[in-house]
Parts: sequence; C-alpha cells; structure tokens
Amino acid sequence: MIGKKTRAACGAIAVLSASAVLAQAPSKTRAHVETLASPRLEGRLAGSNGEMLASEYIASELKKIGAKPLPEKTDMRLPFEFTAGTKDGGSRISISRVTRDEAKGTVGGIAGGLTPTNASVRALSFSDNGDVDAPVVFAGYGIVVPEGQGFAYDSYATLDVKDKIVVVLRYFPEDAENKTKQILARYADLRYKAMAARQHGAKALIVVTGPRSPNAGELAPMTFDTALAGSGIVAVTVNGAVADNMFAAVGKKLEDVQKSLDDANPHAAGFAMSEVTARVHADVVREKKTGHNVVAYLPATDQVTTTAKPWVAIGAHYDHLGHGEAGNTLAAKDDASKVHAGADDNASGTAAVLAIAATLAREKRHRNVLVALWSGEELGLIGSTAFAMAPPVPLDQLAAYLNFDMVGRMQDNKLTVQAAGTSPAWAKMLEQANVAAGFDLVVQEDPYQPTDVATFNAASVPSLTFFTGTHADYHKPSDTPDKIDYEDLDRVAAFAAAILRRVEQTDAPPQFTKVDQQMQGGGGRAGVRVFTGTIPDYSSDAKGLLLGGVIGGGPAEQAGLQKGDIIVEIAGQTIANIYDYTYALDVLKIGQPAKVIYLRGGERRETMLTPGARK
Ligand SMILES: [Zn+2]
Repeated sequence: MIGKKTRAACGAIAVLSASAVLAQAPSKTRAHVETLASPRLEGRLAGSNGEMLASEYIASELKKIGAKPLPEKTDMRLPFEFTAGTKDGGSRISISRVTRDEAKGTVGGIAGGLTPTNASVRALSFSDNGDVDAPVVFAGYGIVVPEGQGFAYDSYATLDVKDKIVVVLRYFPEDAENKTKQILARYADLRYKAMAARQHGAKALIVVTGPRSPNAGELAPMTFDTALAGSGIVAVTVNGAVADNMFAAVGKKLEDVQKSLDDANPHAAGFAMSEVTARVHADVVREKKTGHNVVAYLPATDQVTTTAKPWVAIGAHYDHLGHGEAGNTLAAKDDASKVHAGADDNASGTAAVLAIAATLAREKRHRNVLVALWSGEELGLIGSTAFAMAPPVPLDQLAAYLNFDMVGRMQDNKLTVQAAGTSPAWAKMLEQANVAAGFDLVVQEDPYQPTDVATFNAASVPSLTFFTGTHADYHKPSDTPDKIDYEDLDRVAAFAAAILRRVEQTDAPPQFTKVDQQMQGGGGRAGVRVFTGTIPDYSSDAKGLLLGGVIGGGPAEQAGLQKGDIIVEIAGQTIANIYDYTYALDVLKIGQPAKVIYLRGGERRETMLTPGARK
C-alpha cells in the first residue's frame, strides 16, 4: 500500500506531556474493554447470546450519556438478518436398477437392497433444496478446464447429461503430472463442478470420494457457507457404499473406473449408467440469525446555519469471533474453540467510540452526532452493509464518518489513519489535530479496507479509519484486555474527537473524493488474474451477482455498471451467485471485451466489459 508519512513537529515532547497527564486521570476506555472482552460475553459472535449482552451493555452506556435512539426509532438496537451457517435437514437418496423387463422404471432399492442411512448421504452446503428423480450419468472427475490454460480437459465432452443426475469423483486425477494437477486443481472445487454440471443441463450432482483418493469413500464435508441461497442445482455427496452399489448395478468396480481416469488423459471419458436411476432429496437448512447494530445519536444543541449535511458519524464494530465457529480464527487447533476475547478487535474501537461520544455529549454540537456500533463485521461487514442498504438517516446527510478498528495496541507511538483519500480536507485536519496529539501518524489514502469504513466509502461519505496495527494475538483467544495500552487508546479517542469537532463545527462539510481502487481488491480467490472492478455484495440472496458498488476508474465502471445492478451472465456463463462469478473470471481474457447481461430495476440489460490485469 502506498501511504504518506506525516510527522508533527515536536512529536516526542507532546507525547511525554500527554502521557504524563493521562496517567493521573482514570482511563475512559478500560472499563468498556474489560466488560466487552470478558469471558461472560463469549467473544460476541454476531447473532449469539454474547452479542446480545454486548449490545445491551453498549445501549445502556449510550443512554447514560444522554444519547437517543435515531429519529423515528424507539430502540437503539437495530436488528438485521443473516445466514449463520448450513446443516443438512435430512437429505436422502435411493438408487434403482431398471432392467429391460421393467423398463417402465420402478423406483426402489436395487437388487440386494440398499437402504441409505444418514451417514451415507449429505447435501453440499450450496445445494438447492428439492427432489430429483432421473437416470444417472458418470462424468468422471466432473472437471471442465476453460480454454486458454494450455491444457484441454472436459469431462462432459462426449456425454449427454441433459436432465440427468451426474455422478462425479471428488478432487482431480490422482496420477496426473504435477503441472497438469495444478491446472486441474483450480477447477476441482465442488462449487465449480456443480456449476459445470448445471451448465451442461444436469438436474443434480452426486459427489463421491474415490477409493484411490484421500478420504476414500467419505462424504465431502459441509463447509461453512454464508451464501443466502443455493447455487441452482441439487448437489449431494454419498459415501463409498452407495457409490459401489451404483457401479455394481452396471457391472463395474469404482476403483477400476477411477484408475482409468487417474492419468488425466483428456480422452478418458465417463459413461451413461443407463440402467440406474436415482431419486435424490436434498435438504439444506440455512440457519438464519438476527444480529444487532447499536445506533444512537446526540442531537445538535446549536444547529449550523447552513443545512448542508447536518450529521456526523462515528462507529466501530463490537462483534468478534465467538468460539471461532465461523472458521475465521487464526488460533492453533487446540485453542480454536476457546472464547475469542477480541479486546483489541474490536472492544478497543468500541470503547473509543463510547469515550468520544461521552466527551461530545458534554459539549455544544452544531451537528447531530450519529454513534454506531456494528455487528456482523467479522462475517463480512454484514451489519454496516445492512444499515447502509436501508439507512434510517439518509447517508448523503452525513458530513463524515470516522471508524475505529483495532486501536488498542499502539507500538512506538505509531497511529495509522486510513481512507484519507476520501476527502481533500483530511490531510490538513489530521496534521492540525496532531500538533496537540503528537502521534507518529501514518496516513494512507486507500478506503478499501477490510472494515466498516469500506461501507461508507462505497456510499460516498468522506471517511477515516483509525488503526494501531496488527499483532501476534490477532484473531486468537489471546487478544485479551490485559494487553491493551489504555493510555494510548485514550489518546486515540481524544485525537479523533478533535477531528470530529472540526468537522462538526465547520459550515462547509468535507468534499467526497472517489479513490480508484488498487488492483489487489475484488474477487478474493487466489489465482484470479483478471480485474473487473466489481464490488460484490456478499450479503445478498439475489440470483446473480448483486453489485455493492464498482471501483472508481475500473472496467465495470467504464462498462456503465453501478451499485444495485445484478449480473446474471458474463461471457456466456450464467451467474447464480458470487462463486459462479469468481469462476467465470477464469474464462475472461485481459483486454478482450466480454458481454455482460445484468438486471437494473428488474430490466434486463447488456453491456461490454473489458477486463484489466490484476497485479
Ligand atoms: Zn477481526
């Protein structure tokens, strides 16, 4: 990242005096951090009881200082719904062999009787729910390598799978050369296999882990998945016994069949299992939970004369990782399920916001001060995004938004302030406020940060986010309150309050500047080489890819795409969700225009998008 460094004159002297004074005064932040990061709050996972307790604490603290629920709201706690995980709700499969004598097709146990149990079949997390009853086709590894990878491989080249149930092996050919394996591995993800099956017209996908592969005969795991909807095809995994029965019905042994495919010869093909039909019932239970943002405000005491943007906002996320359930813990295996205290991430930012609000509550205010503590940040900025999608206060009324995420572990007096590129006003304000504060400021322009400031940048609100840097306890249970430097945390709060005061008192609010995103953003899958400049909205359950925004100056913006558009097809690939989109990026060529079909306000439109190169 490109940052510019600003140092205040006499910084070191200012630090010493500020610390000396603060050492006498009781910390404004310590009690908040110790409460929020205490074991009783169990790591504050969005939608959990710990989150509930935390939100109640925050609301009561806000009430104490005289903050009010937003206009027309009676409660500071604003609920939002999200998908917290998936589980199997009772998927089933039955296999039947149809002989010529009974060609009408009867469904039931095959000869010898196969009664699948719970252990023999499970839905994949991205499966549609539903029933499919159809003949079975074996499609090998179910891999389709797009053109231009220097290696042609298409499991469907010689097969007709329209309206059929496709059986595929998990992973990729086991005996392939390493270089070939690397290519095949990129297209071996089960989501990609499901998409390939769907695009060839299959009605359902059955995945089996072959006897020659790791985890032989075991069910593929149901991975953590926050997608709100299925991927457009019924998809289940079966164990080795079910698979053996299927192949036995056509007189084959799965191990022999797998071996014939394992050298990755692109001409080795699957086959129709015309005597076998399957009835698949897939049931994925997407567990919806409710999270709560806590949002209040301090009404202006003395409104600015101009009516331009009568609000300023401060915010921080208060949720954290709970017991590591969501899979985003960085703890070693033995520690992964312990309470993740989240003292720095982000009890520290929450405490800073509460301290700033308490300070401002005692002063004259020329603008309303919106105070927001977000939940669902750790699961993908879900809380702030939900707020911005249906804002109780119009976001164009916000003069600025200041965000705090991990501000409790300052090292060497260094404070990083990001998103400064969102307004030309920030550089001077930061420098002026820092004369008194005396931090070694690292000012970074980039607003595309993995924290809630990104939400407000996308909404064209001039923003800043404060950060004291990462550390070895990041996303681990060991991120505890005893490691927080409370004096410096109080200093960060005082510094930010000074900046907020400037914004709040000025008649002319800061201008918003759109920062062009550097190439590192977007997509999210390692190995994607093209850059389209789209910002997906991860919390959407729309069929297609809902855009939360487009990157300034990027290919999507140049193609005329904008926030709220839903991409349903790109370069001939149908897009049901974010994963389809990510995979579709593989078929795009840098510099070569691709047709994009999208929905805007329900109307189907077309444009051409020319991808750039991702750095
Ligand atoms: Zn975090």
